[in-house]
Amino acid sequence: MTKIYKIPAHATSGTPQIILRCPGCKTVGYFVPFGNINDIESGQFSFGQRRCPDPQCATHVFVVYEMPYRKLLNSYPVELIDFDQEGLPESIVHFFNEALTCFSESCYYASALMIRRTLEEICDLNGATGKTLNDRIDQLKTKATLSPEIFESLHVLRMLGNDAAHVKSKDFENIGKEELEAAIELVKVILKAVYQNVSLLKRLKALQKK
Ligand SMILES: [Zn+2]
Repeated sequence: MTKIYKIPAHATSGTPQIILRCPGCKTVGYFVPFGNINDIESGQFSFGQRRCPDPQCATHVFVVYEMPYRKLLNSYPVELIDFDQEGLPESIVHFFNEALTCFSESCYYASALMIRRTLEEICDLNGATGKTLNDRIDQLKTKATLSPEIFESLHVLRMLGNDAAHVKSKDFENIGKEELEAAIELVKVILKAVYQNVSLLKRLKALQKK
């Protein structure tokens, strides 16, 4: 579960409050300024350094914000959309994280391709083989018990990845923020159905009386 940190006293006096989701530990909180490093102002923009409020993490982040309203414009490393990694194979976490990193950098075509790569990995790890991803998703039906909606979702995401890879889009008018936001949420639903529901069931069954 995401931890939320309260505003530390020193973040409310003098140095602008910057709230972020940590790119390291995914904590949401007010990032702490370094006491001896002042922010640099250039016209309407300011540049500064902060670190994660969780002392176990303390990830160092560069921030760019706009004065006078202290609106955060960018941070490096970028904030990533959070997702539940419990019960997921390492390679799935790796490729989906790449999709999220591309999304955070507004690289929507690259994000769609990495989502497609995540699907390829799901098929491969479940022993679904075939010449094309279309074939492999169809073969997955014989390997995993999933609802028709999940298989339809896999095919829609496959089509999004195809459109991202080719000069002419066939199935989507556009590949942008809106499409990828929906696609990322759909991948989360698929991962839950393929891996996490089973993992939760195993956890609860292990707690049953013998
Ligand atoms: Zn952190």
